[in-house]
Amino acid sequence: MKGRLWIQSPLAIMAEGAGGGVVIENGRIVELVAAGRQPTRPVDARFDAGRHVVIPGLVNAHHHMFQTLTRAHPAAINKSLWPWIRALYPIWAKHMTPEAFRLAVRLGLTELLLSGCTTTSDHHYLYAAGLEDAMDVEAEEAARLGIRITLTRGSLNIKDQQGVISPGNVVQDDDVILADSERVLWRYHDRSEGAMTQVALAPCAPFDVTLDLMQKTAELAERHDCRLHTHLVETRVEAEFCRSKFACTPVEYLDRCNWLNSRTWLAHGIHFDDAEIAELSRHGVGVCHCPTSNMVLASGMCRTSELEAAGVPVGLGVDGSASNDNSNLMEAVRHALMLNRLTYGAEAVTHFDALRWGTAGSAKLLGRDDIGAITPGRQADLAFYKLDELRFSGAGDPLAALVLCGATTADRVMIAGEWRVTDGMPTGVDIEALIADHNRAARNFLLSV
Ligand SMILES: [Zn+2]
Repeated sequence: MKGRLWIQSPLAIMAEGAGGGVVIENGRIVELVAAGRQPTRPVDARFDAGRHVVIPGLVNAHHHMFQTLTRAHPAAINKSLWPWIRALYPIWAKHMTPEAFRLAVRLGLTELLLSGCTTTSDHHYLYAAGLEDAMDVEAEEAARLGIRITLTRGSLNIKDQQGVISPGNVVQDDDVILADSERVLWRYHDRSEGAMTQVALAPCAPFDVTLDLMQKTAELAERHDCRLHTHLVETRVEAEFCRSKFACTPVEYLDRCNWLNSRTWLAHGIHFDDAEIAELSRHGVGVCHCPTSNMVLASGMCRTSELEAAGVPVGLGVDGSASNDNSNLMEAVRHALMLNRLTYGAEAVTHFDALRWGTAGSAKLLGRDDIGAITPGRQADLAFYKLDELRFSGAGDPLAALVLCGATTADRVMIAGEWRVTDGMPTGVDIEALIADHNRAARNFLLSV
């Protein structure tokens, strides 16, 4: 988009002093316009946002898009984490083809985008035969949609742990993992402001890989200046396993891995004690809260209030689409509000808190200070919602209505100053064909293993 665009007089906007809208130029927000005022310099175009509630584009800090192929899978429903994993691993390992994987990524990214997400990560650790170029596929599909992505190169190098079998055909050797991680870093890790593609390194969980691989991954991240990501204490069983096998807490084990530093963000982070929270804070480690998944698997309630009080960055993730079972980040914002109110009380958690976790909070986890807020100088990543559905009728506070009435679909989405969703449709995607192709691919995952 060329020139200066004034997004004029929104119905509501999640930014102080921007009642008159914002001005976009060269893919960035360059000015906030106060209510009833004009931009300080002439504009080339205007977009009347009088029917839109505008928020910073949502940022998804944890996902496994391949799992969209096993949503509501009969073998995995109504189970907690470990029986759920034991049921699904052999199914994923047997049926995940390159074609199915590409459709899963395309579907997950499109669903996220339509929910108002402008930046996502995808923690991909399942390297079945033919998926060696999984990160390249994700980079291509994200570029096609125009969504920002942190390619989160996962890994598994232990076949059998905690009674959970990682089938041999999805486990890789250390040298393969490290060589591909380095290849992906060289090819896709853009450290510049406004980057569309970045890379993070992400062993699946500290107990699914060896200590040596954790340490070597940390060294590689240091050398390439990238983020580190892994699952930690999604369940109590993990904390107990760590104490019995390594005679330490999970956070002490992270320290042995050389992972206690500000590059690291952890998925779930539910079962930390006070001393562990203090250690995470001291070292700048962040936590991605995944409320929907945590409720579906009944894993527990993340201690968001204690984490934030200690200064630990908190963001949001939808988590994999077999434990959510969708990829709608706005719905996760609503679930975060509800779950945390149940934990801490109705006055303690506001709709601003939930939206903040899903925007600036997640941006911080991904190590980005150029997205996640509507302020001059940040990237023009914006989500626009209309309140014209039945569910919003009668709503008083438009911004609160997004969360309380349950917005699910953005009417428009802008990324780096470009419209990527208009009238509720992503540009360049045939939604009906995508659903048909994805459903067809998913049917194979119902076949026996
Ligand atoms: Zn996960």
